[in-house]
Amino acid sequence: KARGQQLSHESYMEGQEEQHLRQLMLIRDLRDAVTNSELWMAYQPKVDTHSGKVCQFEALMRWRHPTLGLVPPDEFIGLAERSGNISLLSSWMLAHVCEQLHHWKCADSHLSVAINLSASDLTDLTLPKRIKELVNHFNLTPDQLALEVTESTVMQDVDAATETLLALSQQGLKIAIDDYGTGYSSLAQLKRLPVDELKIDKSFVLKLDTQGEDLTIVRSTIEMAHNLGLKIVAEGVENSATAELLCKLQCDYLQGYWIAKPMPAEAVLGWLDDTPYP
Ligand code: C2E
Ligand code: CA
Ligand code: CA
Ligand code: CA
Repeated sequence: KARGQQLSHESYMEGQEEQHLRQLMLIRDLRDAVTNSELWMAYQPKVDTHSGKVCQFEALMRWRHPTLGLVPPDEFIGLAERSGNISLLSSWMLAHVCEQLHHWKCADSHLSVAINLSASDLTDLTLPKRIKELVNHFNLTPDQLALEVTESTVMQDVDAATETLLALSQQGLKIAIDDYGTGYSSLAQLKRLPVDELKIDKSFVLKLDTQGEDLTIVRSTIEMAHNLGLKIVAEGVENSATAELLCKLQCDYLQGYWIAKPMPAEAVLGWLDDTPYP
């Protein structure tokens, strides 16, 4: 038995070590990911429940590592944040998304894209100016870009984040609080921010059709958002029962695998042609 315990301890240590080596490798290779064109963006639609039409796409980052293959953003975004490389990725992402919007505009599609920002993006007081320059350079209108930030992202430096978000909101960008319901910020704090939209976290949505408690939470969150004059988005809509429930509850926008999985930019216009939510 002792031998067995020792073995499992050894394999546990090996697992830890492997995990640690993988992280070191990913941090080391993050910087090259940009220059070697290993990054791309996937786009996932949001549908307006009132009009039944696509109202926006969310841009989600993807990294194909040369030897490790696809690395999930939940793994590499956190590493990039902790190793001080996130602004490199965010700058690439911003320029890339704006250029993509420009291409779509040239193809006669006036699309809107929401991007995800990290805490250090929000404390960078040059961000509003950089975004304004990109919007101008690529001939876009500010309403074609929207921002998603989480409560914890904002709370890391609430004063700087508020200043940045106010400037961007005044520029005409819409701002959503992502993963809403998983943080612990108070409404009093959120009220100080120029927020347009709450995005209710998918952990409350995924089993909405079978879990009564989630239904109660979602219903009261939608009510509260509307009373505050905010729009509400549900992410993680995976089946029609959930979509129907959310429509009944007057949820404004839906996003999830049931509508579409995140897709490469090249697939977006074709998907729009075929979809029942044009
Ligand atoms: P998020 O912003 O909360 O994005 C939603 C995640 O849920 C995405 O995972 C999306 O693919 C996934 N999802 C969408 N619909 C469904 C569904 O119906 N069911 C389920 N189970 N999942 C669904 P993804 O693409 O792996 O991204 C994970 C997280 O990585 C994002 O969470 C976001 O926090 C972060 N991230 C992604 N791209 C960027 C980026 O460009 N910048 C920053 N700072 N963070 C990013
Ligand atoms: Ca998001
Ligand atoms: Ca989210
Ligand atoms: Ca998330």
